Amino acid sequence: MKTFIDKLQSEHRLTKSEFIQLLDGMTPEISEYLFEKSRQVARARFGNQIYTRGLIEFSNYCKNNCYYCGIRAENRQVQRYRLSLEQILSCCEQGYHLGFRTFVLQGGEDPYFTDERFVEIISRIRHSYPDCAITLSLGERDFKSYEAFYQAGANRYLLRHETATEAHYQKLHPANQLLKTRKQCLLFLKQIGYQVGTGFMVGSPYQTTEHLAEDLLFIWELKPQMVGIGPFLPHHQTPFADKQKGNLEQTLFLIGILRLMLPNVLLPATTALGTIDPNGREKGILAGANVVMPNLSPIDVRKRYTLYDNKICMDEEAAESREKLNQRMCAIGYELTTQRGDYQEYPIEK
Ligand code: SAH
Repeated sequence: MKTFIDKLQSEHRLTKSEFIQLLDGMTPEISEYLFEKSRQVARARFGNQIYTRGLIEFSNYCKNNCYYCGIRAENRQVQRYRLSLEQILSCCEQGYHLGFRTFVLQGGEDPYFTDERFVEIISRIRHSYPDCAITLSLGERDFKSYEAFYQAGANRYLLRHETATEAHYQKLHPANQLLKTRKQCLLFLKQIGYQVGTGFMVGSPYQTTEHLAEDLLFIWELKPQMVGIGPFLPHHQTPFADKQKGNLEQTLFLIGILRLMLPNVLLPATTALGTIDPNGREKGILAGANVVMPNLSPIDVRKRYTLYDNKICMDEEAAESREKLNQRMCAIGYELTTQRGDYQEYPIEK
């Protein structure tokens, strides 16, 4: 196993069969060997600075029916909401004062938000905060929409591929949602010039190590600027209510692998990681992650934006949550930075 990790560090990729063997060979000792390297690679590039992104969950309306997701259209028990332009701007204002220089607009695929409406929102944020990055996470749209959003001032886009294996994708989504479309969207986004983030859930139902190896190879091919991964966590009002959750150790292991594969990539310690373990985000940083994404959404809507059960930080003011997170990071020798934290190509030493 250690030779695979050494090879990954020097060549940045393994074959499919090597990835499978490495993932299947995970033990606490091998993990520690990996994390020492992945942590060191992150330290060499980012020092002890952790980038922060302020997450604004602008709508929980969604036309899709992903089997894993709590805000899927067919979940009739969700109290639906959408934020107004003024509410979104006020989240940004609050976030800006707290030191956030990236705003992430995330939501369900809500048909109310036409291109015109998004262009207005993005333009207003761009005008008020010329020094901030605007990240979108709005799901699948066509080329022209993505282009209009980019021209209005958006810089980055997060769209997880969820799983790179067609047959597995179909087990997680209804027949009208296609992996091909998702991959096409990612290529459009890159072509337009966005800094692009993709990613997948670890331990999603029916996932095998072979699927994970395919995910890693897909990411290698795509060369995204950001990769978001987190454990699958069941939501009690979805078809996957009774499925097993993902595994903390395996998620951390994959963070370590991704850091060695793409040394410069922006890699968040996600909310799902913080939910599966009270120190999940710290463990993610120590495995090679370098980004956290605290919530800037108004407190009264947060519990309605529930993708999975027991999501953390439901009732903390943004200021309090940024401060607490900073304390957690300081406790492990890191600190939150107010830098914008764009992707940068550093030379990769051999
Ligand atoms: N509608 C947007 C945003 C999706 S929410 C889009 O399609 O991109 C962001 C991510 O949360 C998803 O891509 C998915 O990987 C993750 N997610 C959804 N449900 C989850 C669950 N039950 N457990 C863990 N992660 C989940």
